[in-house]
Amino acid sequence: MSKGHDSDHGHDHGQDHEEHSALSETALRVRALESLLVEKGLVDPAALDAIVDAYQSKIGPRNGARIVARAWSDPAYKAQLLKDATSAIAGMGYSGAQGEHMVVVENTPSVHNLVVCTLCSCYPWPVLGLPPVWYKSSAYRSRAVIDPRGVLREFGLALPDEVAVRVWDSTAEIRYLVLPERPAGTEGMTAEALADLVTRDSMIGTAKVAAP
Ligand code: FE
Repeated sequence: MSKGHDSDHGHDHGQDHEEHSALSETALRVRALESLLVEKGLVDPAALDAIVDAYQSKIGPRNGARIVARAWSDPAYKAQLLKDATSAIAGMGYSGAQGEHMVVVENTPSVHNLVVCTLCSCYPWPVLGLPPVWYKSSAYRSRAVIDPRGVLREFGLALPDEVAVRVWDSTAEIRYLVLPERPAGTEGMTAEALADLVTRDSMIGTAKVAAP
């Protein structure tokens, strides 16, 4: 098991499981409404999928991307972020449910971090929005811990053997955000332009940030 994974840190998912059962009732109602709207020809299911995808991959993770871009541009902010992520992130105006206790883990040329929730789908909502479907899948949740390099290869990220992989298990108490490596060729870019490069997956750890 990789170094960063610690199963003895008080993994209490009780609260989340309650939320999940509340959500599942909501999900059922949403499904019923969606079926009815589609049946009546009032909405196009493809358009709904596009909206959900926008929240999952574009709008939600923009907050996290601004955090990463600022950390790349401002060494004092980066130091604060790595020391006390919750307050550094709240200082940018991002706080709230599922983001109360944040920890930021930094990727370097020798260490790659990957975030999972092995028991359910704990995820830092204020900075990443809604978790993608694969993050909640049992395949990802189990295999990210057992075979992180294999999982990363399936995401198209082949890491050399000399790069250590650390897997962080999110819980109801602690949510992790990966600070990806700043890509080459980005010298002199503004924080705003840098934020546009940062993807959701790079902050979960299933991707790197590509050079512009
Ligand atoms: Fe969880």
